[in-house]
Amino acid sequence: MKKTMLIGVLLAFSVVLSGCGDTEQKKEEKATSSEHEEHLDYGKQSDWKVESGKFQSPINIDTTKAVPMKDEGALDLNYNDKVLNQVDNGHSIQVNDEGIAEINGRQFELKQFHFHAKSEHTLDGEYYPLEVHFVNQSQAGRLAVIGVFFKEGKANPGFQAVLEHIKKGQESPSAESVDVASMLPDNRTYYHYLGSLTTPPLTENVEWYVMATPVEVSQQQIETFNTYYDGNNRKVQPLNGRSILKHEE
Ligand SMILES: [Zn+2]
Repeated sequence: MKKTMLIGVLLAFSVVLSGCGDTEQKKEEKATSSEHEEHLDYGKQSDWKVESGKFQSPINIDTTKAVPMKDEGALDLNYNDKVLNQVDNGHSIQVNDEGIAEINGRQFELKQFHFHAKSEHTLDGEYYPLEVHFVNQSQAGRLAVIGVFFKEGKANPGFQAVLEHIKKGQESPSAESVDVASMLPDNRTYYHYLGSLTTPPLTENVEWYVMATPVEVSQQQIETFNTYYDGNNRKVQPLNGRSILKHEE
């Protein structure tokens, strides 16, 4: 009797042991296979998957989800009113201009500004009739674009100088002077996120600074621009988990 019990206990014990063994083995197999999936083959670097196309612009700015920016974030813009030239580049009216943008303590140079109608970014789902993009570049080549919405109201003197010098499909002499400041809101509160160019090659890692306060433009000015470009705005792109920061002034 005692002997039978002992054998029974031993058997049960061995079943438990072998059960454990099975589980360990499965765990090990799993670990090995996932290690295989994540293993980088340095001999086949051309096969590495490149993640791109997930952080595109423009986006809808959901102001209820914007996170306060931790950086000081000041925007100090010194753009020249005496612009270089103006060109109809086939997808927008572009004004080549110089100046300095100090963004959050870093220095960028203004390259050009151009216009989209309707706006490319949306604010809580709302479009504006027009959006200007000031394209700035750092010494190392990083791009930072400052976007400003135009809402319908009074005529905009800076935009008027641009409108008066449009020549379809070509470079044109620019206005002697463009009141660039009239296309920038006095209040420098902005939304900041990482995105892309909105025209091909749609390069990512572009810093975006979209001003929260719009400037004004007259209905007639919008109509004039729309005779050249109407609908040169890229569709809103998915956020894909990106943060939208808000700098408040
Ligand atoms: Zn643009």
